Amino acid sequence: MKTIGLIGGMSWESSLEYYRIINEEVKRRLGGLHSAKCLLYSVDFAEIERWQAEGDWKSAGERLGEIASSLQKAGADFIVLCTNTMHKVVEYIEEKVNIPILHIADATADEVKKFKVNTVGLLGTKYTMEQDYYRSKIESHGIKVVVPNKEEWNKVNSIIFDELCKGHINQSSKDYYKKVIEHLVGNGADGIILGCTEIGLLVKQEESAVPLFDTAAIHAIEAVNMALE
Ligand code: GLU
Repeated sequence: MKTIGLIGGMSWESSLEYYRIINEEVKRRLGGLHSAKCLLYSVDFAEIERWQAEGDWKSAGERLGEIASSLQKAGADFIVLCTNTMHKVVEYIEEKVNIPILHIADATADEVKKFKVNTVGLLGTKYTMEQDYYRSKIESHGIKVVVPNKEEWNKVNSIIFDELCKGHINQSSKDYYKKVIEHLVGNGADGIILGCTEIGLLVKQEESAVPLFDTAAIHAIEAVNMALE
């Protein structure tokens, strides 16, 4: 079994999900007392979020590069960055390590293709919805991406930072996300990417008429595939 190097996601609510899913999947596949070999570097999300808000992606990228390098030195065989948003700076990590990085958007696009979904609605932080680094990666797999309108961006984004990243799950926010999902389906989406690793805590598959692609779960399972291959 390979050792997974996890960089937290970036709230610990997300890191916890990855740690849980990865270990449950290893147990499910190998049985007995098996659990995942992994190193988890959990950050202080407040520091990272400040750089995001200031648009100082360089400082954030350099920090993540240092963290990835320390995981490699500690014995990680590959890197899993447990957040969609921070894949914006994945190049800084690539510069600092010579082990593979399991890109969350590639893992997600592969899953979307299995469902024969051609157009996905994308929910995530405002950075993920409005900037190109994530959408273009999904589109490079031949999948069309539709995003909420600007007014919806703000609320979808603030629910992530003000509630989900703090561990608050509110019914009114769940209802709001369901409305935005219906809107995206009305705009042609035949599946929805939960493109923020905390959204799976709020919205569940049984509440949606179209497939939901939970990036945290997909990425974590793909990490297990890679660890056991
Ligand atoms: N976990 C989130 C994501 O997947 C947002 C928090 C962060 O900026 O890492 O984008």
